[in-house]
Amino acid sequence: MKHIILLISMAITCVLVAVANVIITRIIGLNFFTFKLWFVVPAGAVCVGMLGASGAILAARYFNIRPTVVDAILMVVIAAATMGLIYFLDYTTFVLDDGRKVADLIDFGSYVDLVLTKAHMRVGRGAGVDSGEVGQMGYALAGIEFVGFLIGGAATFFLIKGLWRCAECGSYLRKLKTKKTKELTFDEASKIIDLFKAGNLETVQGVMAWSPAVRTLDRNGQKALISFDLHGCPKCKTEVVSAKVNAFNGKEWKDVPALTTRRDLLSGVSLRDQFA
Ligand SMILES: [Zn+2]
Repeated sequence: MKHIILLISMAITCVLVAVANVIITRIIGLNFFTFKLWFVVPAGAVCVGMLGASGAILAARYFNIRPTVVDAILMVVIAAATMGLIYFLDYTTFVLDDGRKVADLIDFGSYVDLVLTKAHMRVGRGAGVDSGEVGQMGYALAGIEFVGFLIGGAATFFLIKGLWRCAECGSYLRKLKTKKTKELTFDEASKIIDLFKAGNLETVQGVMAWSPAVRTLDRNGQKALISFDLHGCPKCKTEVVSAKVNAFNGKEWKDVPALTTRRDLLSGVSLRDQFA
């Protein structure tokens, strides 16, 4: 039953995403799923593939389903089907300027062949230079995009697998509230993370309430921000508090996922007040 719920949800998003892709492509004249980074990394296809299978994310969370390997395979299949459906919808709805329908003139296979080989490859980020018909290269490009869709389907599975669950009952946690510290030095941040990791409840409360004295840190120097998130279990109401670090190295802000820490609170204990 759970597999079916996931499958139906994915089928819905697959159709919605395919329809949206076709409509948007007609409007802006550029197919988002063909977008690639450095000509070969099919970033657009990965995104659209993930969106196609994204119904599984919503259903898994809502119905509290843990996807299995079978579901993972289905996610990959659905993502691939999204690409096929996009071509098919394009084919069935394409009307030439003189009013003739493409579907009345050629079969689907010939249409795809035509689209792939006669497409004009655009160099640069969509706008730039037209480098002419792509010919047989079109199949190679479509092959890369197809792989992108498969990766998108697999990524959906790993995204669901990575969602935090309640240690008591296994339900997916919901993020309820969030709170950020002021700008901290690296020393302060690492001390806070250490105390947050190892301290008892009082220490954790103290750390979350602490704030540095008013001061100005060097604009271009190293500094860090810590965000505390309150997560709650929708079923047994157990709370989890997490801390994640965002660091500035002098040039740019970056998340530091290795420092992300999670504290599971005992059932009945709440740190909601800390987020007021
Ligand atoms: Zn729970």
